[in-house]
Amino acid sequence: MAGPLLEVQGLVKRFDVGGAWLARRRRVIQAVDDVSFSLEAGETLGLVGESGCGKSTTGRLILRLLEPSAGHIRFEDRDLVALSAHELWAARQRMQIVFQDPFGSLNPRMRVGGIIAEPLAIYRQGDASGQRRRVAELLEVVGLDPTFAQRYPHELSGGQRQRIGIAAALALHPSLIVADEPVSALDVSIQAQVLNLLMDLRRRFSLTYLFISHDLHVVLHMSDRVAVMYLGELVEIGTRDVIHREPKHPYTQGLLSAAPVADPTLRRERMIPKGEVANPLSVPTGCRFHPRCPFAFDRCSVERPILREVGTGHQAACHLY
Ligand code: SF4
Repeated sequence: MAGPLLEVQGLVKRFDVGGAWLARRRRVIQAVDDVSFSLEAGETLGLVGESGCGKSTTGRLILRLLEPSAGHIRFEDRDLVALSAHELWAARQRMQIVFQDPFGSLNPRMRVGGIIAEPLAIYRQGDASGQRRRVAELLEVVGLDPTFAQRYPHELSGGQRQRIGIAAALALHPSLIVADEPVSALDVSIQAQVLNLLMDLRRRFSLTYLFISHDLHVVLHMSDRVAVMYLGELVEIGTRDVIHREPKHPYTQGLLSAAPVADPTLRRERMIPKGEVANPLSVPTGCRFHPRCPFAFDRCSVERPILREVGTGHQAACHLY
């Protein structure tokens, strides 16, 4: 493989809101707007932003669980947008997702063994006894006893259910895992265990993660690089250290001021005033953050900033730079 494991170029997703009988009220919401980034093999890129900013939609577009409105997604040197249905089916073995809600994502009528073996059966990997062996192996990999194969999801704790979701995601030896808010439905006491498991698995199986979370603190803990998303756009991207110590975009600075930090001397004043629910349609031109930005000036309301270099490997979309 010549380039990065994953390359996303100009990704766009529009949703039509309203139906034919509401034609006059029909509007288009641009949930993901010209998003571009790349991900090297073995790297973890954290995608962070508030609820509704388009980060989960981005993850689903990359896996082609949603159809992009425009843009290119190159994965393992193939353009996923151009693949036929059968080629896409084959490519999906190499890219898996871990969902936020470990209960909702597991079939309550199936035993754990059946849930983990399902992808093996779909892709016809091994016979029944080979699949049983693989299930036992995967249960051990995620820190559970192989006897868990006989249980049903409702017999498990939230943390155990998320481990089952991770085991199922690993079944087909993927190279890329999109982890979509993988710990936000779990008790705080369990979150660290699941995050440590994910980090362990990354080392052990050379996995590449797109780690999606609303919690910048968690993203900084997990990621090599961090991409910050606001109302469908990437507003800043850089290494974990640069985003932690020298955030440029006022939105990132605000997220950091709200995130718990180990060293209180690093805490910044909260810079984002509490305000209205962010609505992309209310900001038709200019910087989408300008209604909330304490540094906004005239140009911000008429000209949309684009991502530009603000340091080595560090880009921000803000007219201040
Ligand atoms: Fe604030 Fe203007 Fe920068 Fe947007 S472009 S973040 S409104 S200073």
